[in-house]
Amino acid sequence: MRKVEAGPFNRDILMKSVWSTMGLMVVLVFSAWTSESPPASNLLLQYCSDFRQIQMDVRDCAITPDSAARAFKQNIDNIRKVFGEDSCNNGAGYVYPVKGYRPKESIGGRGRGYRPDGFDLFDMDVQGSHPAHDLFIRDKNKDGLDDYTQQPADILAFSSGMVLACEKNWTVDSDRRGGNWIWIYDPCLNGVFYYAHNRKVVVDPGQWVEAGEKIAEMGRSGFNANKHRSPTHLHFMYLQIDAYGQPQPGNTYDWLLEARPVD
Ligand SMILES: [Zn+2]
Repeated sequence: MRKVEAGPFNRDILMKSVWSTMGLMVVLVFSAWTSESPPASNLLLQYCSDFRQIQMDVRDCAITPDSAARAFKQNIDNIRKVFGEDSCNNGAGYVYPVKGYRPKESIGGRGRGYRPDGFDLFDMDVQGSHPAHDLFIRDKNKDGLDDYTQQPADILAFSSGMVLACEKNWTVDSDRRGGNWIWIYDPCLNGVFYYAHNRKVVVDPGQWVEAGEKIAEMGRSGFNANKHRSPTHLHFMYLQIDAYGQPQPGNTYDWLLEARPVD
């Protein structure tokens, strides 16, 4: 039997493995470079899931307002720990959340739609407040499409932050009022934004979004928003986390006026 020459054979194997290792590294570096954000950690996804569960329990009256408030504080404390002070980067400023519109032509009632009195995120019995601004588009026939473009209006992230929770599966026979909604945590402000009545949500929990990034398309989802009397709009709410870890309505009117419109 002929003996395989050890020298060239080993060098061949060695070179092959060197090349394949280098190839793998190139692939890894390239994939890390092309993916916009790293996958959310399991811990973060758990916190997102906890956030959603608290909202669901409140909605279903499966938890008392006091217990919900305590759970919310713990949940936000957990999330806050993930983001250090360094993650505060709002240099790009705020972006008007309805693409193709200017604040003044789009904010309902020149800002008078904001009525925070009596609002309690954890108490379903408290009704009548509207700690939000409704942002409208031109849609006379109320088909959910912009009358000029015949397309849905894109909803853009007002500020950078992490998607905490979203609903994508609202149906017309549902009595849920928010429809297809999104909650986003802004670690810079230590507050949460809520975008409701969307036709389509294009983000997922744990995902980081930059200010101005498309997160949804405006729609008419939600029990009242879907009724013909309701003009097509985005329900835009901001809740500031206070010193006790509790969500307090914040009036975003001035921020919206100063926000950068995107055409
Ligand atoms: Zn509203």
